[in-house]
Amino acid sequence: TQAHLDAVAQARKLNAYLIETPERALAMAEVADRKIAAGEARPLEGLPLGIKDLFCTHDVPTTAGSKILEGFRPHYESTVSHNLWRDGAVMLGKLNLDEFAMGSSNETSAYGPVISPWRRRDSDAPLVPGGSSGGSAAAVAARLCLGATATDTGGSIRQPAAFTGTVGIKPTYGRCSRWGIVAFASSLDQAGPIARTVRDTAILLTSMAGHDPKDTTCVDRPVPDYEKAVGRGVKGLTIGIPKEYRVDGMPAEIERLWHQGAEWLKAAGATIVEVSLPHTQYALPAYYIVAPAEASSNLARYDGVRYGLRVPAKDIVGMYEQTRAAGFGREVKRRIMIGTYVLSAGYYDAYYVRAQKIRTLIKRDFEAVYANGVDAILTPATPSAAFGIGEKQNADPVEMYLNDVFTVTVNMAGLPGIAVPAGLDAQGLPLGLQLIGRPFDEETLFAAGQVIE
Ligand code: GLN
Repeated sequence: TQAHLDAVAQARKLNAYLIETPERALAMAEVADRKIAAGEARPLEGLPLGIKDLFCTHDVPTTAGSKILEGFRPHYESTVSHNLWRDGAVMLGKLNLDEFAMGSSNETSAYGPVISPWRRRDSDAPLVPGGSSGGSAAAVAARLCLGATATDTGGSIRQPAAFTGTVGIKPTYGRCSRWGIVAFASSLDQAGPIARTVRDTAILLTSMAGHDPKDTTCVDRPVPDYEKAVGRGVKGLTIGIPKEYRVDGMPAEIERLWHQGAEWLKAAGATIVEVSLPHTQYALPAYYIVAPAEASSNLARYDGVRYGLRVPAKDIVGMYEQTRAAGFGREVKRRIMIGTYVLSAGYYDAYYVRAQKIRTLIKRDFEAVYANGVDAILTPATPSAAFGIGEKQNADPVEMYLNDVFTVTVNMAGLPGIAVPAGLDAQGLPLGLQLIGRPFDEETLFAAGQVIE
């Protein structure tokens, strides 16, 4: 714990931690020492972790990367972080993220971007770690924690993992409790771990997952010991390659990596088949209707009365308006406007209802493939390696949204997906592959992911 606290203090220029909690960390580490000495070590005893600052932590500031939550100190603990402490893990601090987890580069954080520890071979220009769990991915990659919590609404665990050469898994919707996690789009949000290896993510997920009556969408189903699946291999499994993911303009190196991944799985005993997910092309536009719609509703609670920031004004409506004007950043305001627009009476059927229908079709695409005996699906995790800070920030927002083209389908269908590091591009930057599984079959993802990593 002390070594990690020192590393964190020396790497402040990465801006990965928003809040450091050294006193709490050392107190937790002391308990861990006592438990170990007494022969009563719990499953994660003494392991120092970082927590994405979207998880409410008792009496520790929780900002969601937004100015509007400045000064908010929850009097409760998220179920997922609570489960980690129950099992003996140690909290090092809270990790930076895109504001309310909206973004793919960590540049929408009100507290400044996170800088990836990676550099291109031919340039010192700072790179993004991906987003929204950019602080989690950068902290794991830079050895500023052994593992981190993250959340994934449309790729926010898997894309930053791919950009930083780390492993990230978004479990099945309902596997982890969402209680105490600041809500973005409630029907898509899921928590999961980012860590250095498939085995580490398996160990962390075993602790994070599980039934919680405080989240009615959290499923009451036993949590397997996921670590047992690591090393099981892929002999006898059928892995699908969806032809619709061969998008226009896919860089040759991504295409090569994808092919290589399939070859590795084949060499390890899997059967590779081509599959079709015909509604893939509609996933991204439908996601960018459903997610902002739910966000606009979830973010209505930040009114200057209940949490954090308040900008005084002469009447209450003025106070709401000025608090929200000052407290939310550009991307969050854009999402609120898109969301309220697609939910408004005149446009509801044209946008929101249509997007929900597309969501059903996407889900059925996957069901049909799995019904045909496919055990998991292999795709690239992202359409490119990490880009430079500022490179895409002021471009058309849709360009940023395109980062999520391979990941959002998984959230729309509620399925588990893992991103594993699979190689380097010509500039020496990490590239990741994604495996998508059947509902609640995270074990196959750990088994197959370990063959690739
Ligand atoms: N990049 C996506 C978005 O901005 C996904 C975010 C997420 O998964 N939290 O909505």
